[in-house]
Amino acid sequence: MRSIRSACLALALIALLATSAFTSTLLAQSTVTTPEKFFGFQLGADRKMARWDKIVEYYNLIEKQSGGKMKVINMGPTMNGNPFLMVIITSPKNLANIDTIRKNNLTIVHPGRTPEAEIKKLVATGKVIEVQSMSMHATEIGGTQMAPELAYDLITRTDEETQRILDNTVLVEVPCFNPDGEIMVTDYYNSTLGTPYEGSNYPSLYAKYIGHDDNRDALLTSMNESQYMAKLLFTDWRPEVYVDHHHQGSYGARISLPPYAEPIRPYGDPIMWREIAWYGSQMAYKETENGYTGAINNAIYSGWGHFGFHWITPFHNIDGMLTESASAKLATPLYVLPEQLQGGARNLPKYEAETIFPDPWPGGWWHLRDIVNMQKTAAWAALDLAARNHETVLWNAYQKAKNQTARGASADTPNYVIPTLQYDPITANFLVQKLLVQGIDIKQATKPFTAANGQSYDAGSYIISLAQPKMGLIRNLLDRNFFPDNDWTRDKEGNPIRPYDLSTDDVAEFMGVRVDHVVGPLNVEAKLITEAPVTPGKVAAGSSGYLLSGKLDASYKAVNLLQAKGVAISRVVKPVDGANLGDFVVAKGSEADLTTIAKTIGVDFSPAPAIPADSTAALKSKRVGLYQHYYGGNVDEGWTRWLLEQWGYNPTSLLDPELKKGDLNAKFDVIVIPDDSTSTLTGEPAAAGGGRRGGGGGGEGFGRTPTDYAPEYRSGFGEEGVKALREFVQKGGTIVTLGTASDFAIDKLGVHARNIVGELPTKQFWCPGSTLKVDVDPSNPLGYGMPKESLALYLQGDPVFQITPSNNNERYSVVVNYGNRDILQSGWLVGEGNITGKAAMISAEMGKGKVILIGFRAQHRAQTYGTFKLFFNSITN
Ligand SMILES: [Zn+2]
Repeated sequence: MRSIRSACLALALIALLATSAFTSTLLAQSTVTTPEKFFGFQLGADRKMARWDKIVEYYNLIEKQSGGKMKVINMGPTMNGNPFLMVIITSPKNLANIDTIRKNNLTIVHPGRTPEAEIKKLVATGKVIEVQSMSMHATEIGGTQMAPELAYDLITRTDEETQRILDNTVLVEVPCFNPDGEIMVTDYYNSTLGTPYEGSNYPSLYAKYIGHDDNRDALLTSMNESQYMAKLLFTDWRPEVYVDHHHQGSYGARISLPPYAEPIRPYGDPIMWREIAWYGSQMAYKETENGYTGAINNAIYSGWGHFGFHWITPFHNIDGMLTESASAKLATPLYVLPEQLQGGARNLPKYEAETIFPDPWPGGWWHLRDIVNMQKTAAWAALDLAARNHETVLWNAYQKAKNQTARGASADTPNYVIPTLQYDPITANFLVQKLLVQGIDIKQATKPFTAANGQSYDAGSYIISLAQPKMGLIRNLLDRNFFPDNDWTRDKEGNPIRPYDLSTDDVAEFMGVRVDHVVGPLNVEAKLITEAPVTPGKVAAGSSGYLLSGKLDASYKAVNLLQAKGVAISRVVKPVDGANLGDFVVAKGSEADLTTIAKTIGVDFSPAPAIPADSTAALKSKRVGLYQHYYGGNVDEGWTRWLLEQWGYNPTSLLDPELKKGDLNAKFDVIVIPDDSTSTLTGEPAAAGGGRRGGGGGGEGFGRTPTDYAPEYRSGFGEEGVKALREFVQKGGTIVTLGTASDFAIDKLGVHARNIVGELPTKQFWCPGSTLKVDVDPSNPLGYGMPKESLALYLQGDPVFQITPSNNNERYSVVVNYGNRDILQSGWLVGEGNITGKAAMISAEMGKGKVILIGFRAQHRAQTYGTFKLFFNSITN
């Protein structure tokens, strides 16, 4: 308890701070450098883009001039080593108390054992924390160009509205979610100025690895930027409100605002959905009040989107929202004819006035500055609403946490157990680490225990209670989920409408991790954990050296690390006592290296039994080429490159000019072709209707044709490339085609197979991002280490194979089949009978080499750990 004396001292301090806040406001007004003066142009001016390094400089400058209203924090380096900033803007008094405010908010949103009376006090004195992030998709430039001006306005305006915002909210601005991309796009844009390609799309991925998929990385947070955002949103700050600013296509509404349209995901708190609508109304209303036309809300973007940052935060009980502004041509204005304006999206069937779109924009010139104005209006409206209703917002934050906890406690299976007994315990442990990144409470059993159904578990098993605020998140990540098949998800003709992304995000299914949903109360001694470190593996030699399990994803990493050190490794290829088919045998004499690897990645090197020489095959270190192209880049290429680098495969990027030169065997043993259409790979015109991914539904939909790009950025390796790849296989090379690129193997490389779902109408066969039950042949070297029954992620458009008759049927094998019935584990599947029992992954020997076709998404976004081994075997064996 505080003494009276210290309370008086505190009051005096507050008075002092208030006075200094007053004088600093006057000071700020006169001395804060305007963006226009600093950058040399008004932000959003035609053909001008402020570059990230200058923006960082500006923030650092105005922080000093802000009179204590702003704090700039560098969260760390991006993947390319640029600073990633979070900028706190609030009143000087709040800023001086920022850590207390942050901690009090964490108590409100995760009430735990804090009595309600105490929470009421925190609510009465609390401040709403609001995170707003900009331009994660780097060609969607408006946000980052707007952010410095929003910051400037907040620290210099002295009107009542601004004062209320500063007093009652804490804005955490992320002025750029993707600084690497911002720099790439700004430099590219400047290089096109005055050329016929001015304002054209950026020709590569606008990030080191994953470009547009940076949003889809909220699930496993593989990139640095995602890890910073996860800290900000999921654990360390856990705001009440999150707004993420994006761009959409150019020919519809000028800005799309919350709430989301139908359908919505299950397990969200109703107050959260209501609040999102509340903010959206305020944003849209403010656009109209300010005289900006063309704002729409409750349209285009469905409430069951991907599980990226703005779409996953609602299940953290945060009001996670997005704004989507119509794009210009980067900073070059775009002229839009009235008849070019289109509807055709969710809740906007025609480009006509409706209640959610009462004042359609009439067409004309569209400037970056228009985007800045409308985004800034939306950003400000979200702050204004929270400031006016701060107590309600904070009390609701408590209500949401409390209600979700109660719902979880009364669920049929209120506890989820991740047992120690796993097919791949290292991957299971990795999942636990990533669930902790989400801020989910996880306990670990300190003693063995038995569940009400009689199932017993070892000490060390992880327990996730649904009786916690993030119940909705847990259920979406760890439950079987089925995407709705109803009027919202079918068009008038009954054709299914493509979900925004996948139709399930069950990450445990993607990773092949066993999660038991346990009925009844659980009587267990367990402790709350904050980390799940890798358990160091054991190292012990046997007569034939060391045995490394082929069942573990991590073993492939160990193999690559050891091969890089020149250690001889072979693989068990015939059944022997004491070893499984596909286990790795590591030669003796490398104990120090093994110990380091066992410690860092957790694999055991056990004593290898005596193994006859003809029962193993020596493994040669492989030179891996990974096909890459311009034409906007290919995000599957970026993910695959990252994954291969993480696993020590050291891939070399193979671009069109080098591919077309041929003689590929001199440089590569294996060439991987990421998911792509035949037309994009070869550069031939696409067949009518475009790619096979199909379906309608909203999307970021930026149209692109090859001639939009300068000649040096056009792609397609043509007949020359096809010839070079065929020759590569004939001479002993291996080509691995992923997802739709398998169509290319059939169309162009002479693989005798047919894609049996390629031409089926979507009413007959439809499977947009679902986990399906598959049967693996673990005796096939490409199936080594896999469980016989597995789950595979299938995306609409992925080929399913039938091997067609040829003179060399014996040179073909089926590695993976779809199951025989009831094959949908999670997601959405129409027309199961089209694929049951059919081939999902095949291998075709041709000449001295082979082509391996993986039809489903074995390494999707580096998240599908459960099927990584099928991909790794394709390279390693
Ligand atoms: Zn976007």
